[in-house]
Amino acid sequence: MMKAYDVAVLGLGAMGSSAVCELSARGVEVIGVERFTPGHSHGSSHGDSRIIRQAYFEDPSYVPLIDEAYQLWADLEERTGTRLLTITGGLLLGATSSQTISGSRQSAEHWDLEHEILTAQEIRTRYPVFTPPDQAVGVYEKRAGFLRPEDAVKAQLKVAHRNGARLMYNTTVLSWKETDSGVQMYTTDGILGARHLILSAGPWSPRVLGMNINLSVERQVMHWFKVRGPLDRFSPSNFPVFIWEMDGGDQIYGFPARDTERDVKVAFFRRRNPTNPDQLDCATHAQEVEEMRATLESRIPSLVEHSRAVACMYTVTPDHHFIVGRHPYREHVSVAAGFSGHGFKFSPVVGKILADLATEGVTERDISLFDPSRRELIQPEV
Ligand SMILES: Cc1cc2nc3c(=O)[nH]c(=O)nc-3n(C[C@H](O)[C@H](O)[C@H](O)COP(=O)(O)OP(=O)(O)OC[C@H]3O[C@@H](n4cnc5c(N)ncnc54)[C@H](O)[C@@H]3O)c2cc1C
Repeated sequence: MMKAYDVAVLGLGAMGSSAVCELSARGVEVIGVERFTPGHSHGSSHGDSRIIRQAYFEDPSYVPLIDEAYQLWADLEERTGTRLLTITGGLLLGATSSQTISGSRQSAEHWDLEHEILTAQEIRTRYPVFTPPDQAVGVYEKRAGFLRPEDAVKAQLKVAHRNGARLMYNTTVLSWKETDSGVQMYTTDGILGARHLILSAGPWSPRVLGMNINLSVERQVMHWFKVRGPLDRFSPSNFPVFIWEMDGGDQIYGFPARDTERDVKVAFFRRRNPTNPDQLDCATHAQEVEEMRATLESRIPSLVEHSRAVACMYTVTPDHHFIVGRHPYREHVSVAAGFSGHGFKFSPVVGKILADLATEGVTERDISLFDPSRRELIQPEV
């Protein structure tokens, strides 16, 4: 007879690896299935660095989850002896009325978070590599920094393995169906049964969720530029992670140089560039490089020489809020998808929420913003 696990997790990227880690720590018999290998670069969780920040301009209701995430990242670092988080401070730049500035001020004020408001002159003095226009302002927060995504996914899977989770790599789930007592998954390595299924397929979510949902999978390019002049101005102790909202609402963001490297990573936060996740265009296009270079020219002029580019994918919801909850139509299934380009920092908390949903059916954290059956997600009739 086929073995039935307590919980199966489809996809072991940021969210799935965290879910198997948490479930295995709770003594749950869990199996995780991943079509590639831990920390791979075909989905959404690669590219050296991810920003973590607290004064969340997207919505103040994310802030308690971020507080918990900080604690969980520290726990994971301790359990695995791996450095995953570097605190650098974070600087948000833009016009006073921009969403980046007004939203982060609102979050900071709502939760009484430590922050500073800086004038353009103060920004130029503190970080001479930034050349903001006079009308720009900054919101600075001390606790922001960056995570190492590939190492983080591997760390979650290492703990899960140690706890006895069964992890299958290079195995694709071809389809799944609900049965009276749970779910069955048909994989390239046979049929698996579980009492509960967690769907955490990242950019492949529209294919595996089994519901008609408004999700757009988008190609996003990360660029690395060589530093001109002294490198220490871009070191993690001198240079913050930053997000800069420009006129028109586009944002760029970036990171300090990695320890000994002369390369600084920068990217546009959101570019509408729908893609098929099985045919991600990984080529470097001269026009994209030029657009980034021209954007940096008047803002961080010491970044002129492009060194490389890597493509990654976002899975974007219409309101840019996540999808985390019980599947609206399937009793034995939970969903974690649509992280819209800002989910990584939350992944250890999402793992806890998914473990709660799989074992208890509910979680005590407030996830109402992420409701899988909210109106915004319903596919318009054509
Ligand atoms: C360029 C870029 C920059 C970003 N910057 C930030 C940032 O600064 N801060 C931040 O918080 N977030 C950021 N994000 C967003 C964040 O990285 C994502 O929200 C997060 O990584 C999503 O994780 P996931 O587990 O949903 O997807 P993934 O990590 O892609 O995992 C999904 C997994 O499912 C597997 N899978 C899919 N289908 C199947 C199947 N049928 N069978 C078996 N396995 C399957 C895939 O192989 C994959 O490993 C960024 C994302 C990108 C692309």
